[in-house]
Parts: sequence; structure tokens; C-alpha cells
Amino acid sequence: MTTLTALLSVSDKTGIVELAKELNALGVKLLSTGGTAKLLAEQGLPVTEVADHTGFPEMLDGRVKTLHPKIHGGLLARRDLPEHMAALGEHGIATIDILCVNLYPFEATVAKEGCTLADAIENIDIGGPAMVRSAAKNWKDVAVLTDAGQYAKVIAELKQDGKVSLPTKFALSVAAFNRIAQYDGAISDYLSAISFDEAKVDGTPERVLFPAQSNGMFVKVQDLRYGENSHQQAALYRDLYPAPGSIVTGEQLQGKELSYNNIADADAAWECVKQFDVPACVIVKHANPCGVAVGKDGAEAYSKAFQTDPTSAFGGIIALNRTLDKAAAELIVKQFVEVLMAPDFTPEALEIFKPKTNVRLMKIALPKGGNTPWDKGQNAMDAKRIGSGLLLQTADNHELQLSDLKVVTKLQPTEQQLQDMLFAWNVAKFVKSNAIVFCKDGMTMGVGAGQMSRLDSARIASIKAEHAGLSLKGTAVASDAFFPFRDGLDVVIDHGASCVIQPGGSMRDQEVIDAADERGVVMVFSGVRHFRH
Ligand code: 5GP
Repeated sequence: MTTLTALLSVSDKTGIVELAKELNALGVKLLSTGGTAKLLAEQGLPVTEVADHTGFPEMLDGRVKTLHPKIHGGLLARRDLPEHMAALGEHGIATIDILCVNLYPFEATVAKEGCTLADAIENIDIGGPAMVRSAAKNWKDVAVLTDAGQYAKVIAELKQDGKVSLPTKFALSVAAFNRIAQYDGAISDYLSAISFDEAKVDGTPERVLFPAQSNGMFVKVQDLRYGENSHQQAALYRDLYPAPGSIVTGEQLQGKELSYNNIADADAAWECVKQFDVPACVIVKHANPCGVAVGKDGAEAYSKAFQTDPTSAFGGIIALNRTLDKAAAELIVKQFVEVLMAPDFTPEALEIFKPKTNVRLMKIALPKGGNTPWDKGQNAMDAKRIGSGLLLQTADNHELQLSDLKVVTKLQPTEQQLQDMLFAWNVAKFVKSNAIVFCKDGMTMGVGAGQMSRLDSARIASIKAEHAGLSLKGTAVASDAFFPFRDGLDVVIDHGASCVIQPGGSMRDQEVIDAADERGVVMVFSGVRHFRH
């Protein structure tokens, strides 16, 4: 067997010594750049520096290390073409059969607070990606390793067959091009999202919200069995750097594979439940909350949420913002549940769900807390696909404070009514428009969702409460957008509402306020709308 040559040049040195030792033991000749070579030599490994190999020193602070025909010729020459091999011979170039490279840490550098433009630029690797591209292009002849997770497989194949198999080399090549695309994407995203200011050229640049260009840095998590319907194909991708506390950071502890609809509904439930500071439970069906409640603990919050609409809760997606304990598990296990999410599960709770092998249990950490969307585990941006286009907007992360409320009726709200209205508002935000939500004592009493007319949403919310056997007397009602006429308001008052929160801003606000005064209910304006489509 001819002697193989490996070139190792890595910024992240994890696992590199072990890899080099294995390669050396297999008789592979080692070539390496300055820092990597030094580390390997310290371990007593026989390694030739690239500079000695090319006869050309590393220069310009390492900007030029491997950009040399002796390196790229050795990587790019096709072993099956006699002309290529003859050209190598003519110029005294040896083939390189294994390339192991990971790049300057550009992504980690720009993620650091206060990173300057100069720091970012210095961390753009040039020679590394060039070598990776050369090797990946010549994949039949060169095995290219770009991730420490790949080392073991390559060593195993070399040990067994003295070579790396063709399928493995192809997979390594694809992974290498993906890595380069990701890397270049990170560079282009970073540079596109800063506003150039000559005065700050050596300082920390400002980031703009909607960059002129963007690569959308997503990483594939998994293929899904199918999409919203069985004739649609689907896959799940996550942000390259997902915010802690978001659903894609969750871990599935048991149950069937998550479906497309499971994930969409679980996201709606999780986004809603994580906004509450007190123990809360959200039950979602078809992307709408069908029961939301707060309570002294998870068990109480769940049983209140369930009461809103037991019929719809069947096969629901349930999220709690507290560790799922035995008491809550004993209640929830009685119903048919598709997905159950919580920040954690006690061993007793896990035991209770163990026989229910189909139930998907998801452990998702709560956001770490703070003021930025990232700290809150929220998206900064929201996207919707349209025919051959993309609608982008900042996410609807608005949080209403009590002090934002404007009482517009003669009647003033009680403390309890204010609390109920705020709770109803926080739920309505997560209900598809037109949304009408009746609440009382920290629980939803009737939810009207997704109707083309607000009047119909009001009617549906009332009918649903009636079917659930709940009295709407003295309830608070939230409407996600203004009442265009008094008719919707009349419906909720007819059914027992005593206070109403809505954005205001209609041409007929006065007509609606007069109706509230005439019928003796409280009304407050939030000044903000929460359409959700
Ligand atoms: P070392 O620590 O071995 O001195 O450097 C390893 C790093 O240098 C790797 O991340 C590799 O991608 C990078 N690298 C290798 N060749 C070149 C080059 O010619 N120019 C630049 N800028 N980086 C290189």
C-alpha cells in the first residue's frame, strides 16, 4: 500500500492529537500548519510543517499559510488522470489524501459582545475554506474532515480496509460544502447587518434590523413524516443559534415522533405558557388555545384550563411552565394528550406516563430571563411565505402593562377586573383573529377564534362556554382588535361580561363606549392590536 498523507490544520484542536496518533500508527504521513504542528510535535508525533513542505514560510500574520500549489495541487489532482499525475511529478508535488480542517472561529467571534469590525475581519479564514473546497471537489481521492465528530468513522475504515470508502468520502464532501456555505453565510449575514460608519471603522459596528441581504442561517433538525397533510413533504429546521427557552431547544423524553402539526401546535402552546410568571397551563388544538389558566400549582392550572373546553382538549397539546409533578401527571394522564411540555418532569410523573408510550413528553427549559427577545426565548423576526415571496416583520412581542390601560367608561374597573382583563388580553394575543376571549379568576371561560367576523367570534365564545357548562356572569372579555360596531359588544354583555378590554381606534369608538356605559360595563383601551393569522 502506498503511504497516505494527511494535512491537519485546525483552530479548534479538540480530538486532533488522538486523530493524529491513530493516523501515525496507521503509517500515514502528517503535514500540519504552525499551531497544529507545534501541538502534535509536543506530543512526540512526527509531523512536517507546511512551510517546510512548500519551502515557503507562513506570512502576513498567518493570512497566507497553505495557499500554495504544493498544497492545492496535492489536493486537487485527479489520481485517475495520467496528465494530472504527470503534472504533479513535473513540479515535485506530492498527493494529499486526507484533509482535516476546521476554520477560524468567525461565528463565535462575532457573537461576542463588543466585537469590533477588525476582530471580525481577522477571523475570516481564507486558506482553510480554500483547502476544504479543493478536497471536497476532489472527493473521490481525498477524505475531507471538517468536524471532530467525523474522526472516529474515518479511522475505523482506515483500520479495517486501509482506505476510506467512496460513500463515506462523498458524505464528507457534502458535509464540507455545507460547512463552507454556513461559514460564508455567517460572514455575509454579519457584514450585511452592520451599518458602515467611517468614524467607527475600528470600533464595534451598529447592527441593523432588516439587513439588505440575508442568508437565513438555518440548520436542519430532521425530516418529518409529512407536512400539514399526508401528501405534503416536510422537514424541521432551527436557527443556527436558537434562543434558550425556545421550542427547538427542547428534548423529547418519550413518545412517537413529533409530526409537523404537533410541532406547530406545541410552539403555539409553549410561546403562550412561557409568558406567565405564575404556574400556568395552556392547551392548544389547531394552533389555538382552547384552555388557558393560572393556578397555585401545575395541577390546579391544568384542571382549570381543561374545564374551559373539555371536548376540544381531547388529543390536545399541553404546556406547563412548571415542573410536571405527580399531582399534575395523575390528572393529565386521564385525558388523550398528543404532546406534553414542561421545563422538567419529576421521576413520579415520568413513571405515570411510562405506559402511555405514544404520548410525546418534551422537556424544554424556560427562557433564562432578561429584556431582549433572545433572553426571553422569542424570535426577533417573523416570516410568512407568499407566492414567490416572503413577508418579514418584527415578531409580535408586545407586552401590555397595567399602566398602559385607558379606562373609557364611566364605570371604573376593580382590581380583580383589571387582573382578569390583563389575563384575557395575554391569551387573546395567541388566538387566531378574530379573537374573543372570556376569562375569570385566571382561567379562560370561552374562546372564539379564527372567524371572519368579530360578531361570530363573540357568539362562538359564548356558545362554547355554555356547552362547557360555565357561567359567563361577571367575566372579563378581550378582543384582539377594535369592535367596529356595538353589536359584538352587545353579544358578550348579553352573555354576562362585566368588563371588556380592546385596542380602541375604530371610527365608531364613541358608539361602542356609549353602549358600554348604557349597559353598565367597564371598558378599557389597550391602544395596541394583536392580529394573528
Ligand atoms: P494553526 O493553529 O495550525 O496555525 O492554524 C490552523 C488554522 O489556520 C485553521 O483554522 C485553518 O483553517 C487556517 N488556515 C490554514 N491555511 C490558511 C491560510 O493560508 N490562510 C488563512 N487565513 N488561514 C489558514
